[in-house]
This record gives sequence, C-alpha cells and structure tokens, in this order.
Amino acid sequence: MPEPLEFTLTLYPDPVLRKQALPVKAFDEELARTVAAMFERMVASKGVGLAAPQVGLKKRILVLNATGDKKDDLALVNPTIVARSGPETLFDEGCLSFPGIYAEVRRPDRCTVKAFDPAGREIEREYSGFESRIIQHEFDHLEGVLLVDRMSPADKLTHKAALQELVERYKKKQAALARQP
Ligand code: ZN
Repeated sequence: MPEPLEFTLTLYPDPVLRKQALPVKAFDEELARTVAAMFERMVASKGVGLAAPQVGLKKRILVLNATGDKKDDLALVNPTIVARSGPETLFDEGCLSFPGIYAEVRRPDRCTVKAFDPAGREIEREYSGFESRIIQHEFDHLEGVLLVDRMSPADKLTHKAALQELVERYKKKQAALARQP
C-alpha cells in the first residue's frame, strides 16, 4: 500500500494559483489518492471546497461539500461549466488560499456542469444555491482566477492590508527557502 498523500495549502500570491490547470488524463489509483487527500485537506482546513491548484497541483480537479454531510462529497474531474443561469446573487465568499478574507461576489444562482467522477464516469448535472456557488468559485481556480479578482474595488480597499500581509509572508517564505543549503 502506498503512503497516503498529505497536502498543504497553497496561499496567495503563490504563482501556481495563477496557472491554467491541465486536464487529468488517467483515472487511476493516483487520481483516487489525490482526491481523497484533497477532501482530507479541505475538511481539516474547515473549507467547503478545494481546487487542485490550492494544494500546488496544476490539475483540473475540484472537491466540495456544501452540507458537511459525508454523503454530499462531490469530486469533479475535468469539469466544464456549460451554462450559468438564474438570478445573480451576492454572497460573502471566503477562500482557503486567502485566510481570514471574505468578500462579496456576484454570481448566477445556477450552473450546469459536465465532468467526470474519479472513476471516470461522466456527470452532467445542474446545480443551484450554495453548491453551485462553491462549484463556480472552485472552477475559477482551474482558470487561475482568484477571489481578489472578483472583489469590488471597495472590498479590495478594505482588505488591502491583509492582502499585502499575505504577499509579505510569501516573500519571506521564498527567501527562507532560498537560504536553505
Ligand atoms: Zn478559493
């Protein structure tokens, strides 16, 4: 048995968060382990959704759970949002890559998704409400789009210091890594 994977969170402004994620090619054991480890990281971090770039992987995988009930675990591999509809709503979104930062984001209520489950079975479904919101947020990550891009100018101003602190923290971490022999 291979060791279970353990992921740490990738925080803003790590450049991996800005990359376009690449399609998954093999629906194999490694994908199953990756999805399991993503769910573990999401739950341990008290998140409701997580995209692969947030654990440093340039892969089109997202996991979410809108209720906290294990049976509502949803893993989408190579998802595409084929339609968005319904009234646009504002909601205070957080993001595990922006700890402590919440900002109102406007999105349509419903989205229709085509994807595969980790076993390679095709999924086509319409989602609404909170689940649809999480999917749209996580899907943004696969395109390198982040909460900071969706914030209003007023929210960006409100969170200016917190965002700057994340940048400083990242720079310090990179400098420390560079000093290591
Ligand atoms: Zn996010």
